[in-house]
Amino acid sequence: MSGIQPTADSYHLGNYLGAVRQWVELQDEYDAYYFIPDLHAITVKQDPKELRERVYRGCAQLLALGVDPARSVLFVQSHVPEHAELAWVLGCITGYGEAARMTQFKDKSSKHGTDGTTVGLFTYPVLMAADILLYRPHLVPVGEDQRQHLELTRDLAMRFNSRFKKTFVVPEGKILEGSAKIYDLQDPTAKMSKSGENPKGIVNLLDDPKVSAKRIRSAVTDSDGDIRFDREMKPGVSNLLTIQSAFTGRPVADLVADYQTSGAGYGALKTDTADALESFVTPLRARFDEYMSDRGQLEQILADGADRARAVAGPVLSQVYQTVGFTAPR
Ligand code: ATP
Ligand code: MG
Repeated sequence: MSGIQPTADSYHLGNYLGAVRQWVELQDEYDAYYFIPDLHAITVKQDPKELRERVYRGCAQLLALGVDPARSVLFVQSHVPEHAELAWVLGCITGYGEAARMTQFKDKSSKHGTDGTTVGLFTYPVLMAADILLYRPHLVPVGEDQRQHLELTRDLAMRFNSRFKKTFVVPEGKILEGSAKIYDLQDPTAKMSKSGENPKGIVNLLDDPKVSAKRIRSAVTDSDGDIRFDREMKPGVSNLLTIQSAFTGRPVADLVADYQTSGAGYGALKTDTADALESFVTPLRARFDEYMSDRGQLEQILADGADRARAVAGPVLSQVYQTVGFTAPR
């Protein structure tokens, strides 16, 4: 079970390398549920027309990246009302202080100010717990930035199970070793984000590879000229090595050894990284355009996904309602 927000026209390198790459791999072995969290997206201001379009773009990107609706359930969060309904119940077993400790809320709210920060942004992690627990998944493949939210999800599952009766599976996070956090090119100590401040720091999968190559060429590095992996001392160079390694499948250590032998500089590191990216995104962009050209097909896939998701989520919510003491309507 995992999701990715429709908060930009394109997903970025971090979304793919940290999360969606795992989704594609896991769908062979698991019954997978992947969704587009539009309820989460409106925790910050969205333009309605843009949001609607981005849901379809998100769906087309996931398909182009390899999410296969024959093997995975792909759906939109607002099509399955059980998410919001379970979130209410879970919110009532979440401590205010517990929610207030979430670092993503602190980061995002400091950007929006007190009045721009919504109650929805505050309860975002509770809704995320509902998204997950409804499907009783064993694994949740996400990037490093979701570790704390997952911990809250696990706590809420255990709390509900022990306060009432065993209802939820306590899920494990699946966070990749090498590429769980891709950094902003202009500020390589901050995570690359769809809602990042400086577009020059972001590499979008759907951008023209020439634009991305330019951004990679102007990535912030350091002045010692030595190509080696050192997250603390050389965050910019380490980030480029991580990205290149992910796209070429070559271990970072091998890349570093080659650069050391040839004595190549940052120019070569950047060109090679941009080339590796280009080989990946060129066919991806073509597949995306193809999916986008058939809106009817996207709608059909999402309608099927919603039916399959509700078939699981509906009975789980009913069980929860009964367990907490609600009366059935008839
Ligand atoms: P937003 O800025 O709107 O929150 P985002 O870029 O953080 O957007 P999300 O939709 O919140 O993207 O997250 C989707 C998935 O991508 C999550 O599993 C998240 O952990 C992962 N992810 C996001 N950014 C990165 C990153 N820089 N490196 C690795 N994984 C990431
Ligand atoms: Mg995010």
